[in-house]
Amino acid sequence: MIGRRLALSSPGLALLAIWKRWRRSRRLRSQDSRPGRCPLCAAATRFVALSDQVRESPVCVRCGSVPRQRAVAKVLHELGLDLPRSVVHESSPSLCSWHFLRRVAARAVGSYYFEGTTAKRVGVFHAVDLRAQPFANAEFDIVVTQDVFEHVPEPLRAFAEIHRTLRAGGAHVFTLPRQLHADTRARARLVDGRIELLLPAQHHRNPIEQGGSLVVTDWGRDLEAMLARELDITCTATWVHAPELGIDAPIEVFVGRAG
Ligand SMILES: [Zn+2]
Repeated sequence: MIGRRLALSSPGLALLAIWKRWRRSRRLRSQDSRPGRCPLCAAATRFVALSDQVRESPVCVRCGSVPRQRAVAKVLHELGLDLPRSVVHESSPSLCSWHFLRRVAARAVGSYYFEGTTAKRVGVFHAVDLRAQPFANAEFDIVVTQDVFEHVPEPLRAFAEIHRTLRAGGAHVFTLPRQLHADTRARARLVDGRIELLLPAQHHRNPIEQGGSLVVTDWGRDLEAMLARELDITCTATWVHAPELGIDAPIEVFVGRAG
C-alpha cells in the first residue's frame, strides 16, 4: 500500500461520497450544536461534537469539516502566499477540503493512490504514487497533505518528490499525528516491493477503504531535524487553537520549505 488508496471506480466513489455526505448532514443537524465560523465553507455555521478526538471533532454541519482541516485552512490563509493566484496540489483530499481548494486557489489538483490502476487519471483526480509523481518540477505553489505521511512507505522519498514539484518559495503544508516524547520509528518497511511489518499492524480509519490504512511510521519529536538533515527542508510547526473556528484544542500544522 502506498499512501491512502481508493479501490472504487470513480462513478461509484462519487455516488458513495455524495450519499455519505447527505447522511452525515442529516445526522449532524439533529444533534446539539454551537455557533462558530468555518474557514472551509467560509460561512457562519454550527459545530457538533461527535467524539472526544480533538483532531476529528467537532464537525461543521454545513461542509462536514473537522478541526484538523480547519487548522490547515487557517494556516493556508496566513502563509503569506497569494492563495487566489496559487496552484495547489492536495494528496488524498477529503470532499470538503477539495471544494475549499477549488474555491480559494487559482487551480486545485487532487490526487490519490489508486491501487492497481495504470491510468494517469481517475475522474477528476490524478493517480499518483507520492514517491514518484507525474508532475513537472516547480509546478505547484503549495502542496497539502493531511494525515497522509504516517501511511506512506519510504516517506523521505515522498517528501523529496513534493519539494521537487514546488516552485522556489512554495510550501508544503501538512499534518500528521506525532508523539512529542519519542523519536520517529518505522512500524513497517518495503522489502522487494512488499510491506514487511516491524511492529504489530495498526490502522487508521479511512471512510473509503475497508479495514483502514496501515500506519507505516510513528512520527516523533525529531521530524524537523530529520527533514533538515536528510533533505535540507526547513520545517516549522505551528499549534493552531481557535475555538471560534471549532478548533477547541491545539492542532499541530507543519509548513516545509526548501533550504
Ligand atoms: Zn464548514
